[in-house]
Amino acid sequence: MHLRVLASSSAGNCTVFWNDGHALLVDIGLSQRYISRHLDDSRISFRTVGGVLITHTHGDHVHPETFKTVLELQIPVYCPAPIAATLQKQFAAARKAAHQGLLRVLENGVSVVAGFEVESFPVPHDAPGGCFGYAIHHSTLQGDTTAVIATDLGYAPDGLAGKFADAQAIVLESNHDVMMLQNSNRPDWLKKRIKDIGHLSNEQSALLMQNILSASRELPRAVILAHISRECNTLECARTTMQAGLHSVGAGELRVVDSYWNEPNEIVTLGG
Ligand SMILES: [Zn+2]
Ligand SMILES: [Zn+2]
Repeated sequence: MHLRVLASSSAGNCTVFWNDGHALLVDIGLSQRYISRHLDDSRISFRTVGGVLITHTHGDHVHPETFKTVLELQIPVYCPAPIAATLQKQFAAARKAAHQGLLRVLENGVSVVAGFEVESFPVPHDAPGGCFGYAIHHSTLQGDTTAVIATDLGYAPDGLAGKFADAQAIVLESNHDVMMLQNSNRPDWLKKRIKDIGHLSNEQSALLMQNILSASRELPRAVILAHISRECNTLECARTTMQAGLHSVGAGELRVVDSYWNEPNEIVTLGG
């Protein structure tokens, strides 16, 4: 399995997971032109995208025009029931897609989406319809690979770390530096929203990774930092905080991979 964050920030999110013949997108919060261009860069045609998973209904995760185009291309969109209901309230295209069987509800447990086995789990984030992370598995004769993605979460409740345990790749937000957020000229209500129920700080993200490692038997191959704030964080600050956290639990060799708001990051390959 390969994965690549095509872009991640409050300006738009899309991550692609693929293997021989199948591709799956998690979130479509960017223009179709941008997504197509960078799928091409990654040698994936939009036409091989067999499904889209939606984490939540915020505009940086569901771009209305792209959502419409995806459905026009007959690519099925998958999400848990409360998100499907919210999308249908928001978009006529979603109501039509539900009718056509293109908006598909993920039940609890494992579902097959575009050739991958997918499992959703709820995360705390203030979006209508809730917010979900996804574990994405792929089995081959060479072995099983799993990646887990959660890009918007206000805090890590008990038990969340277990959802990421033993994944080979973890895409996790490292949204803000607490001091930079505090010193920003954002209104107080927004600072409070981000801290309480919006997004993980660099320290919270590093702490969650430590808990994930203590729930895991093996070290992941990579942790990919996502949804890095452009105003209240720097790539370096996010990366060094994560590296320090990993180092303090003897996992300094775990690779920390950046993602960017305006360009795709490196391709991470699992297995093989
Ligand atoms: Zn977001
Ligand atoms: Zn959000």
